[in-house]
Amino acid sequence: MTTSTTAPTITVPTITEPTAKTAKQKPQHHSIWPNRSDDPDNQPLVNGHRLSEVAAIAGQTPFYVYDRTLIIDRVQQLRQALPKQIKLHYAIKANPMPSVVNLLAGLVDGLDVASHGELVTALATGTEPKEISFAGPGKGVSEIIASVAAGIVINAESMQQISQAADAARQLGLPARIALRVNPAFELKSSGMKMTGGAKPFGIDSEQIGEAVALCRTNGIEPEGLHLFTGSQNLNPLAICEAHTQVLQLAAELIESFQLMLRFINIGGGLGIAYFPGEKPLQLKSIATNLQQQLQPIKALAPNTEIVMELGRYLVGEAGLYVCKVIDKKVSRGTTYLVADGGLHHHLSNSGNFGQVIRKNYPVEACLVEAVQNSTTAVDLIETVTVVGPLCTPLDTVADKVELPRCQVGDLIVVRQSGAYGLSASPQGFLSHPLPAELLL
Ligand SMILES: *Cc1c(COP(=O)(O)O)cnc(C)c1O
Repeated sequence: MTTSTTAPTITVPTITEPTAKTAKQKPQHHSIWPNRSDDPDNQPLVNGHRLSEVAAIAGQTPFYVYDRTLIIDRVQQLRQALPKQIKLHYAIKANPMPSVVNLLAGLVDGLDVASHGELVTALATGTEPKEISFAGPGKGVSEIIASVAAGIVINAESMQQISQAADAARQLGLPARIALRVNPAFELKSSGMKMTGGAKPFGIDSEQIGEAVALCRTNGIEPEGLHLFTGSQNLNPLAICEAHTQVLQLAAELIESFQLMLRFINIGGGLGIAYFPGEKPLQLKSIATNLQQQLQPIKALAPNTEIVMELGRYLVGEAGLYVCKVIDKKVSRGTTYLVADGGLHHHLSNSGNFGQVIRKNYPVEACLVEAVQNSTTAVDLIETVTVVGPLCTPLDTVADKVELPRCQVGDLIVVRQSGAYGLSASPQGFLSHPLPAELLL
């Protein structure tokens, strides 16, 4: 055995100079969202409340808060922009919080549900059952029975759903309300999530609609609607116009071919909102003009048929903030991390794991409650930080390399555009952290 008298030499790998690199990196995101606030501390406002007050009302972080005035304004703007005869429905799955659904039920003409749970929420608003429709490729028998018993419209997506609705109607001694969800051969261009074209689990292929109508009629049911939903999160007005044109032309063909006596044609939702740098809010003008034109032949053919748009994200997405608190701050090899008490278990889509191909930052801001309370000068200092959530997974990113005012532990991180597909679209049980609060103000 030999004992070395000299200490072993350890090669230290050279670490790239991290601060220099960080400084050179262009931040991927700076706040694209106009701060509506004229607040001296530059706090976001929610229906007139400064964010620090909202946090006090919530009594905890993290929380979601939805601004009722923004929801009301949005519905008003849509009604002003779109042709008068377009009816608006709210698709509950975008944000099923009962207070939000109640608020919207009073503003729009109907509700769209996608489960028994949403059906119960919709009925509780007092909305007329015939203005509630139920979409979904996999409806359970008990859901179909509940729909017939409640008198809501079943958007039938298969032959089996038609037969089951007919069986339920016979059992209950009540009429079944059926609309046929059509899967057209065309698809929506530029959509975040395509719902039609080619083989799809949604709806009945347009070539099989004749068969579906026959099956309804054999059972003494006259289809009262057509439902055509082409895709979600679309910010391209031209693509939306093209989809509306094709959808209404197909509807006209089906009406003529099968002598349909429709109460409504539901042309779907899918109007997008701007989340990422470079995205611009959707302009409604060309969409409205096109709809006005495309409605003419339908009006001639079926004067009593209503045209319905069912929107989710567009009605609520911009009205919501997700707010979490900085609970730790540390530097790892030149990257400054803010560790927050909220993350992907509450807000999966912000983390980039809900259908996004490349992760981009939502509009994120900091609200310096600590700095302001301690009247430090930190408010003026900007730094590039990565905000992560508390979960033990690299997927839990709140904001990657963003420029924010210099935060301390206790300051708030605000994620805008969080009113749709937020809490209910997140794996709340993952890692067993507490639930966030939810407020409508
Ligand atoms: C999800 C969904 C909507 C709402 O889509 P948005 O993109 O949020 O407008 C509308 N209709 C149906 C059938 C849906 O499944």
